[in-house]
Parts: sequence; structure tokens; C-alpha cells
Amino acid sequence: MRVLKNEYGDWMVLELRKGAIFVDELRNVSIKIGEVAEEEEEWAPMGPTPFPQIETLRNWDFILLKRYKPFYAPYCDMCCLCTMGKCDLTENKRGACGINLEAQTGRIVAIAVAIGTACHTGHARHMLHDIEHVTGKKLEEIPVDLGPEIAEVAPLTQLITGIKPKTLADLERALRYVEEQITQVMDSIHTGQEGSYLDYESKAFHLGMMDALGKEIADIAQIVAFNLPKGESNQPLIDVGMGTLDRNKAIVLVIGHHAPPAFNIADYIEQNKLNDEVELAGICCTAHDVSRYWPKAKIAGSLGRQLKVVRSGLADVIVIDEQCIRADILYHAGKLGIPVICTNSKAMHGLPDMTRRDPKEVIKYLLDGNPGVVVLDPLKVGEIAVEVARARRKKRGEIKPVLSEEQFMNYAKACTQCGNCTIACPQKIRVGDLMEAAEKGDRKPLEEKWDVCITCGRCEQVCPKKIPIIDMFNFAAWNRILNEKGKVRRGRGPVRDSEIRNVGAPIVLGTIPGVIAIVGCSNYPNGTKDAYTIMNEFASRNYIVVTTGCMAMDAGLYKDEEGKTVYEKYKDDFNGGCVANLGSCVSNAHIHGAAIKVARIFAMRNIRANFEEIADYILNRVGACGVAWGAYSQKAASIATGVNRLGIPVVVGPHGSKYRRAFLGRPYNDEDWMVYDVRSGQKVRIEPAPQDLLVAAETVEEAIPLIAKLCFRPNDTDRGRSIKLTHYIDLSLKYLGRMPDDWHLYVRTESDLPLAKREELLKELEDKHGWKIDWSRKKILEGPIRPYHAGFNPTCVERLFKEGFSSLAKK
Ligand code: SF4
Ligand code: SF4
Ligand code: SF4
Repeated sequence: MRVLKNEYGDWMVLELRKGAIFVDELRNVSIKIGEVAEEEEEWAPMGPTPFPQIETLRNWDFILLKRYKPFYAPYCDMCCLCTMGKCDLTENKRGACGINLEAQTGRIVAIAVAIGTACHTGHARHMLHDIEHVTGKKLEEIPVDLGPEIAEVAPLTQLITGIKPKTLADLERALRYVEEQITQVMDSIHTGQEGSYLDYESKAFHLGMMDALGKEIADIAQIVAFNLPKGESNQPLIDVGMGTLDRNKAIVLVIGHHAPPAFNIADYIEQNKLNDEVELAGICCTAHDVSRYWPKAKIAGSLGRQLKVVRSGLADVIVIDEQCIRADILYHAGKLGIPVICTNSKAMHGLPDMTRRDPKEVIKYLLDGNPGVVVLDPLKVGEIAVEVARARRKKRGEIKPVLSEEQFMNYAKACTQCGNCTIACPQKIRVGDLMEAAEKGDRKPLEEKWDVCITCGRCEQVCPKKIPIIDMFNFAAWNRILNEKGKVRRGRGPVRDSEIRNVGAPIVLGTIPGVIAIVGCSNYPNGTKDAYTIMNEFASRNYIVVTTGCMAMDAGLYKDEEGKTVYEKYKDDFNGGCVANLGSCVSNAHIHGAAIKVARIFAMRNIRANFEEIADYILNRVGACGVAWGAYSQKAASIATGVNRLGIPVVVGPHGSKYRRAFLGRPYNDEDWMVYDVRSGQKVRIEPAPQDLLVAAETVEEAIPLIAKLCFRPNDTDRGRSIKLTHYIDLSLKYLGRMPDDWHLYVRTESDLPLAKREELLKELEDKHGWKIDWSRKKILEGPIRPYHAGFNPTCVERLFKEGFSSLAKK
């Protein structure tokens, strides 16, 4: 330790790492002992941005925001966030605090992203608490060991903080940093702080990055503490669908995202040999995670099916934890007499906290007809949930539709065709028409729309005849419910380093045409089949398909002509033509991780505390595209924003436009597409690749070619580009019935053109776009935005251009 005087004569104490302190003859000195940190292992040279603060990566954000200008579509042009309001922000007016509509929209975006980030981070914190409680171990006693094939154990933690965690205590240190950053950004949202929409977007990017880090911490923690899969391929298939639930058994339904209470239910079933008597099924990410822990658990459905499942009466008891649970779960469960057990302080629904009571007492309380309880100790949940379900099963008979035939017909007749439901319906379902058909004896239309309905319940709120519309759907689709039986690959967690070694070069050179990450919620414009269609289309074309969350489960509900789901049809690998389910929403972090590992393992870049360089690498070289087709929660906003900051574009469905902003590129604007070429030492105008960073598509037909287009990267080799162009053109022809109008922008040389169509396309370039072609050699003489050079070495960051990349390759 060194003690020095500063220039004003004040004593300054420098950091002490190890050793003893002797204080002699010092006056007016206070000694504070803070955290005693072990010296960080020098696993790689420390990069420029360990533990970045709000401003640290602003330069990178502004590079992205200059090219991908935020396009705002505010839902509301008023602000009522403080008591000086509400303020009218229309026609360039400013609020009482001075904010304008652009900055206010950026601020609202940042709020949404902050909520999502807080959810994943709060989940991570809760996970660490529960791990210590459930395992009886301290965090420093639990190693972060993901097996022999994963040396880069926590790519996001390594990239952002510089820590390569050895134990969960190291991850906890990273988590404290995330929590501080969320607080700092939330501070900036207060009245009278930030006034620039670009800075709000930069702050949202910062939160998105924190979101990714929080997810990585949460998932790695549950993997190592509860022995979930560590990236192994060929995971077992899990039953998905309401029809897979054995109605002869007592059914425990878990809903949410924080699975330790559900793990305890699985343990209780196993320890008491109740497999023949009790079924454990889930909705949303708890379903994924409990099946990662215990593959006998089933997935009842995704978030969009929550009320379909609850109101079908299938559950004997409902256990909720956190996130994506309906706020009115108690009302719907209560109507059917299903008790609800709240296991997480974030969702307690006004119920009495009986955590400290004897489980037998709680079981009796619930069986006496009380609507529910709070039990915050995951070690007590198993016994209470299972025994309540078993007792209720003994009393109930066969599970039938909630409505009788007579009630169904009476309700159908009661409909006045007022149309209120259609106005309220986010899916614009013409419920009145369905009722009219049902009244006439045709239930098919109602059954067909069952899948498109996302059970938001808004129609029921406005129906003057109080028709229980969701029950009407369930009645008409009862046979479909009973036969809904699919398969999902169990979530496997991280991508292995060995897999990256195989695919790093083909991804960067473009010969694997892209990595398609299909994630998120289930608010699809046209039903769950879209999830299957997108996944199947890209896997069949040798793209790498990875998936998580609700889209992963919905895709497993559909089968091809041979009766196979995508998980049975394609191998479970991180490779071209494969489909890998990584797990729940927090497992999304492994998608970021895979992209970071391409930079680390294939390109030998130093990833330690080096976010800007690695994001620049990914933006220019890793042809990946996220798809959140049914995005609706604030977590989907934070997920997409975090992916965007890492240089990966995202396509969302039409409901995604309600996030109020898109990041759209302007292909015609030369200055937006200038990059530095390290090889030539020149600034070069590149093709618009990737064209957008966040974009909504209206239909799956529009989305699929767009996803293919967003896999173009300036670094593609000519062979890679010709493969990508082939798919882009082919998918446009298949889904839109026409050639894309911008395909020529991506042609740098004749060898970029798909071989089978080369002559035809050269002709079109000449005729439609005025390019000069030497027909004797079939060569392009004039026309492309830039010529192709195999050694092209792009970066968007002037600092990297001047100072060079940080390579770990042996010289
Ligand atoms: S935060 Fe600003 S714009 Fe919003 S209500 Fe208050 S004063 Fe008006
Ligand atoms: S519950 Fe279904 S039909 Fe009713 S408003 Fe929501 S999506 Fe539309
Ligand atoms: S709101 Fe009710 S009464 Fe009106 S059309 Fe819809 S179902 Fe019929």
C-alpha cells in the first residue's frame, strides 16, 4: 500500500490488494475498508472498457445511430409522467420541463428497456439468493464450470466487465455492476435530465447490454447450481401442447420465469415416487427451465396460450413465480376454483404470506377453498403444490369443456354483432362473425381462430352481453386441445467452443448464409404456425437456427408431411441446417455469446473488456439476424436493444412497431455507409449491409426474405455473397412472387451472382440498372457500389482503424 499527499496536501490512500497496514503518526485520517478483491487472473490483456459506464460506449452507439437512424412512431404525443403535466408535445411544442416529442419518445423507449432489463437482472439476483438457500452453499463455493468443451464460460461477462468468472461470486460482482447501471440510467429518465433523443437511445443501448449481461448471469447460475445441460447436443425431446397433459393425473401448472420453485416440485414428485400420479407442466420460460432440470416436465404452451390453458380447467393447482403472468390470474383461476400459489415477491396478488407456516397447514388452507397463498420459500413449494393437486384430483372427475353445449349455444345466440370485440381485438378477429356461424351450427370458424387468438381477454371486457369468448373458443376447439401434441428439444444452454471452431470460418466468409436467432414472445399476427414456418425455412437452407423462449415451444407444435417437428427433422447442433433450442429467455445470452466467441475463437480477437471492437467485428462480419416475431413484453424490447448494440439486426412482427421506434438504414445515403478498410487504408462506401438494425414486417411472407437480406455483411466472400443472394432472391420469389428490387445493391462482382442465374442477372443489371458488362468474358465493368476484394478488412471505428485490432494470435 502507498500513502501519498496530493497537490492540496490531503492524504490519499491508494488501493491495497494484499498485505498489512501499519498506521503511524497520522492525524485526521479515516480508514475505510471496502471490498477486498482478489487480483483478477490475467486471462487476457485488459481491454479498453472494463465495467463501462453510461458514457463509455456512446461513441459506438452514435456510429450505429448515425447509420440506423431511429424512426419514431409515437403512440402518444402527450406526456403525463410528472405533475407539471400533462403536456402537449404536438407540433414541435415542448413540455413544461423543456422536453420535445423526439426526446420524450426516446425516453419512453428507455423506460421500456429499463423495465425489461430490471426483470432479467432481478431474476438473476433472485436466482443467486435461491441458489444459496436451496443448495446450502456460498456462491464462492460453486464453480462456473461448463465442461471441457467450453473454456469461454461467460462471453458477455468477459466482454463487458473483463471478469472471467471462476465461481458464482465472480458473477455476483458483475451483477452488482449491472444493478448500478440500471439505477444510473433510470436516474436519467427523471424530469429535467436528458434532452437528446440520441442520448436516450444510447442509454437504452447501455441498458440493453446490461440486459444481456443480467441474462447471462441468471442462466449460468442456474446451469451450474442446478446441473442443467451445459451445451450438449442431442437433448431429449420434451412434450409440448395442451393435449400432452395426462388428465388422469393431478396436474400442477407452473407459470413464469424463475424456476427454482418448479425444480422443488419436480424433486418432490421424484422423491415421493409420484410420477404415475402427478403431472408437472408449465407455461412460458419456467416450462423450458423445469424441463432442462427434469425432462419429464411438460410444456403446456407459450405465453399467448396462458388463458387458454388456465380457462380450460386442466390445472389442479397453479404455481406462479415472476414475469409474464396475467395480472388477473387469481380471477380466472378463482372462477374455476383452482388455487394459486405465488412463489415470488414480485407477484403476490394480495394473498396472505404463509411462507413461515407448516406446509400441512398451508395445504389445508388451500383445500378449504381459499383462492391462494404466498409461499416464498422454494423448498416448501413442492410439497404444498403437489399435495394440493393430488387432493383436488381425487375429488374432480373427467376434465370437460367449461361450457355445456346448451351454454355455448345460448351465448352464440346472445351475440348482437355489435362489433365491440373486433375493435378491441389486437388480432382484429371478427368475433361476431364467428358467433353467428356457431349459432347456425358451424363451429369451424371459431375453432380455426382459436390459434390466432392470443387470449388477451380484451373482447370480453367490452362485450355488452358478457359472452365468455375465450371459453367459446375453447369449447369449439376442444378436440384440437385434446390432440395438441408436439415435441420441443430440451433447452441445451450455451453454444460449445468446439462448435464455434467448426462454423466460425463459414459464418464469417458467408458460406453458412447466416445465423437466425428466433426468440421471444407469442404475439404472432397469424397464429403459432409462423414460428414453425420461419424455423423450417431457414434450417432447410443450411442457415444455423437457434431459438429460445415462447417461439421455441410454439414451433414444436407443428409437423411436416412425415409427422416430424423441426426438432425431429433437424439435428440439434450449432451448425448449418440444424435447429438448437438454447432454453428460456435468459438463455438468449448464449446467442450473444456465440457471436462473441466467433470473434474470440475464429478471429483470435481479445474479447476482454473490449465491447466496441467486438461489436464492430460482429456488425461487419457475423451474418446473424434476430427474429422476435411475436414480441410484446418490455423484456422483448430490452433483448432486441441489447442484440442491436452488439451489431446484430432484429426483425419483429407487426405488433413490434408498437415499441414506437425502428432503426432503419437509408441505402441511398452514401455517407451512412462509409467504413474504414484496414487493408487499403481508405474509406470505402459499402453496400447497405446489414440494411436495418430493428425493423418490423407485416407478414411472415414479408419477413422471411427480409431476414435473409439482413444476413449480408460487407466482409462476405464472393462465394458467400452468391449463396446469400441466391437465398434472398429465391425467398423473395417464393414468398412475395417477385424479384427483390434492391438485389443489385449487393453485387460487387460477377462471382457474387448465383451461378445458375448468372447470365440472366447480368442481363438485368445491364438492362434495368445500366451496368456495363463485358459479355465476351461475362464480367462486370461498371456499376457496383464497390469492387470486391478478398482482403477487405472493414471497421466502422476510426480508433480501430488507426490503432489496429487487438489480436491474441501468436505473431
Ligand atoms: S415530464 Fe416534462 S413533459 Fe412530462 S408531464 Fe412532466 S413536465 Fe410535462
Ligand atoms: S382474447 Fe382473442 S379474440 Fe379476444 S381480443 Fe384478445 S386476441 Fe382478440
Ligand atoms: S362484443 Fe359481444 S355481442 Fe358484440 S359482437 Fe362481440 S361477442 Fe358479439
